[in-house]
Amino acid sequence: MTTGLRLMQCGAPMREAQLPPAEDSFDVIVCGGGTAGLPAAVAATRRGAKVAIIERYGFPGGNAATSIMPCWHGIQTHHSGLLREFGHMVEDFGVGPIPLKDKHIEPEVVKILFLKLAADNGIRLYLHHLIVGAITRDGRITAVVTESKAGKRVFAARVLIDATGDGDLCFHAGADFTKGDKGSVQAMSLRFRIGYVDFARFASYAGERQEFGWGDKVRQIAERDARGERRQGIMFSSRLDKLFDLHRDRYPDLPSNTYFNCSSIRPGELSVNSTRIYNLDPTNPDHLTEAEVALRRQAWEIWRFLRDNIPGFADSVITETAAQAGVRESRVIVGDHVLSVEEGMAGAQFGDSVQTCCVRFDSHDKARYETGGTGGLCDVPFGCFIPKGLEGVLTTGRCVSCDHLMNSAFRRMENAFQSGEVAGTAAALAAINGTTPRNLDVGRLQRELTGSGFNVRQTLPLVAGPG
Ligand SMILES: Cc1cc2nc3c(=O)[nH]c(=O)nc-3n(C[C@H](O)[C@H](O)[C@H](O)COP(=O)(O)OP(=O)(O)OC[C@H]3O[C@@H](n4cnc5c(N)ncnc54)[C@H](O)[C@@H]3O)c2cc1C
Repeated sequence: MTTGLRLMQCGAPMREAQLPPAEDSFDVIVCGGGTAGLPAAVAATRRGAKVAIIERYGFPGGNAATSIMPCWHGIQTHHSGLLREFGHMVEDFGVGPIPLKDKHIEPEVVKILFLKLAADNGIRLYLHHLIVGAITRDGRITAVVTESKAGKRVFAARVLIDATGDGDLCFHAGADFTKGDKGSVQAMSLRFRIGYVDFARFASYAGERQEFGWGDKVRQIAERDARGERRQGIMFSSRLDKLFDLHRDRYPDLPSNTYFNCSSIRPGELSVNSTRIYNLDPTNPDHLTEAEVALRRQAWEIWRFLRDNIPGFADSVITETAAQAGVRESRVIVGDHVLSVEEGMAGAQFGDSVQTCCVRFDSHDKARYETGGTGGLCDVPFGCFIPKGLEGVLTTGRCVSCDHLMNSAFRRMENAFQSGEVAGTAAALAAINGTTPRNLDVGRLQRELTGSGFNVRQTLPLVAGPG
């Protein structure tokens, strides 16, 4: 029995007669070039498939890039297959923290290396294409419809992968989906970076005010900066929000019910994850507009508060805000299997497991911010990737079939990335063998994944960390 499930209103497939003919046809089309989408495309193309990625922005990288999100919590221990390869690529690139030794990756490096992976693997990129529809025949998705400055375009594929995070492709095809806990999703947040922080001064203050819970991390950042170290990221999560509460009258846009969660991956800089807004639907454009305005005001208010009140921030500036409000949770497509919190708590094992979910629960709910505990490490059965009632399509990343709390663990980047490798491998096998993902021999898929060094079931300990 899964908790918090509620079916929401479905989209509707488009009428083919009203659309231009398909311009090109692929074995596999990956919808969304983000954390899960790019590895999905690489995995598919390496198995001989002709692959395209369709992406709404001018760069790949997804939330790792658009939310300037540097923390890949499980990557030091929980890496296999393509994720391990990607970790080594980042190390060789030589910019920013070293992910297999440290839990951080510089977001700009994700953008450029995802582009390199696409080019090196012969993946056709369609950037600046927004997915606005799906064409289905007898319950099978056969093509995706995009909108761009040039109007509508149609691209056909034997198998499609929904890697949009929000489940847009499956939504347009009429799939069942859930949204959060009875419609209430985790908070949206806008990350931002503050540059020119004097960490030596900040560390003196932090040392005196240990009640805010930053431990010795701020001092470690100061020491790192003094050494001129460029390849070490340091994260701390403090309760500076308790101080916010004392100053709300002078700083009315400070967020409430939050934490002060920061990473420093560049000298003199903090990447801050502290803004948040609740009770808005990230697939409703009016709600998104409200979120963008409120979260940007919060970011500048937090900076103003730090500049005025915390030693070391007097000469700081906001050097970057994320490209958009970060979405932790939206539509989750109901699959043949819905991975539940009970299964996560029990460390469930499945014969048809294709990956491990490795990071513990981290649900930024308004009523109960739940992070930690021992639950969340479990096998992920292949049925989670197959949208119920649809053929010719797989999900990957944040929209893979889980209940609300389980999704708070599965959405994490190392899980999302590795789910991409699963979906891409499955899609290529199905396309090349003339079958559908649902009818794939899962044993064959497991052998294919294992053969490229990928862990299809639990072998490693659970990973912690908020995000
Ligand atoms: C504020 C915040 C903090 C977080 N902190 C952490 C953390 O500390 N550690 C961690 O591991 N995870 C964290 N996460 C979660 C994690 O970053 C995401 O859940 C994960 O990256 C999702 O991967 P994905 O591939 O499913 O989606 P994404 O990476 O978002 O990729 C989806 C891609 O699809 C594209 N797309 C979407 N819709 C369309 C469309 N209609 N047409 C064309 N393209 C489309 C998008 O542009 C994007 O490139 C955080 C998330 C947020 C918002």
